Amino acid sequence: MKAIVIGGGIAGPATAMALQQVGVDVTILERRSDDGRATGSYFSIAPNGLSALDAIGALDLARALGSPAHDSLMYGATGRLLGRVTLGTPLADGTPSLTMRRGDLTGALMDEAARRGIPVRYAARVTSVRTSPERAVVTLEDGTELDADLVVAADGIHSVARRTLDAGAPAPRYVGLTNFGGITRNSPIADRLTPQDWTFVFGRRAFFGAFPEPNGDVVWFVNVPRPEISREERASTTDTRWKEWLTSLLSGDRSDAAALVAAGELQLAGDNTYDLGHVPVWHDDRLVLVGDAAHAPSPSSGQGASMALEDAVALAAALRDAPSVPEALSSYEAARRARVEKIVAVGARSSSSKIPGRVGRIVQEAVMRLVFRFVTTDARQKWMTGFRSPTLRGRSVDARQ
Ligand SMILES: Cc1cc2nc3c(=O)[nH]c(=O)nc-3n(C[C@H](O)[C@H](O)[C@H](O)COP(=O)(O)OP(=O)(O)OC[C@H]3O[C@@H](n4cnc5c(N)ncnc54)[C@H](O)[C@@H]3O)c2cc1C
Repeated sequence: MKAIVIGGGIAGPATAMALQQVGVDVTILERRSDDGRATGSYFSIAPNGLSALDAIGALDLARALGSPAHDSLMYGATGRLLGRVTLGTPLADGTPSLTMRRGDLTGALMDEAARRGIPVRYAARVTSVRTSPERAVVTLEDGTELDADLVVAADGIHSVARRTLDAGAPAPRYVGLTNFGGITRNSPIADRLTPQDWTFVFGRRAFFGAFPEPNGDVVWFVNVPRPEISREERASTTDTRWKEWLTSLLSGDRSDAAALVAAGELQLAGDNTYDLGHVPVWHDDRLVLVGDAAHAPSPSSGQGASMALEDAVALAAALRDAPSVPEALSSYEAARRARVEKIVAVGARSSSSKIPGRVGRIVQEAVMRLVFRFVTTDARQKWMTGFRSPTLRGRSVDARQ
């Protein structure tokens, strides 16, 4: 059986490796001209996502890139500790959530796919996909046509393939938050942060997160509630200007946030935050969506990449176990839809909590202390980060598919 995967982000190479593991002959098409390393900011892969990486034999790769992160420490603008929330139940071998640069993981997964003999084509932008009950054909920007028994669209939140399946498919929703990420190198402030934990501050005008790397660098991000940043504004605003603005927003809070931003360098500037909840059509007989193309929780959930990795394993397991491709795609959707839509809803709530309400931060802090104590408890989050992917060992896909 022959498959084409569109997209070389997180879901793309992970799905390609999972499909190869169950005997599918697969190729990856990525529109970027390189592997995207050294771009973007840091993110965390929760234990459920690590479990999926383990199922495709790529956990060591993530371990080599990531720093262990156990808990989130939640502070208010007043400097008061509001609560401590786990970043997830560690794997059986004790591996907790791992924080790493997004581009590093993408690059490492693409390299690993190539090392395993999967053809990886860069500068290969797919402009359209058409399907029949037996085949799928993708067309590249240069007019080349490639056909396969199955096309997996891992082309992200602005997926082209989603519209092929359903011209009325919903567009991503702006959640009201902009995102900035950066790093402050060799900072004395690193010593004031708890090692192996993320520190979050619900500031008066912006939400802030910081993580101390073992080498003394501090990685951080800022979420600012405001209208979407236009392309023109992004293009005309320098990093220095963005940093001045962020520093001014953070300086009223009792935290190290403003000092860290002022001394740091931006790695992500003026990103608008979107989510994508219910996408009615995930597949036809020969084309299927995975990762952000099908469902995108807002980054506040800390689960988007983990959901993409879980999808990869679930799709391969479904293809291995079902008698035909169309039946496999239906059983993949049945296995995934309820879980991912629930996580998108969690992300939406989490994004809203970063936007200061009319009642003011002091009242909000009192409410949050109760929420972190009684609602966002470790036990109540177990359904999300305690999920473990199935093993892909055993049978191969049925030749009849
Ligand atoms: C600022 C930020 C912080 C985040 N933090 C976290 C976090 O802490 N934890 C977490 O789990 N998730 C986080 N996420 C979400 C996570 O990054 C995404 O959920 C994840 O990257 C989805 O993977 P994907 O492969 O589906 O899509 P993407 O990573 O977007 O990859 C899609 C790929 O497809 C390629 N592509 C697109 N169109 C085409 C085409 N037509 N032809 C060929 N190639 C194409 C793109 O170039 C890209 O490489 C964060 C997201 C953002 C924006």
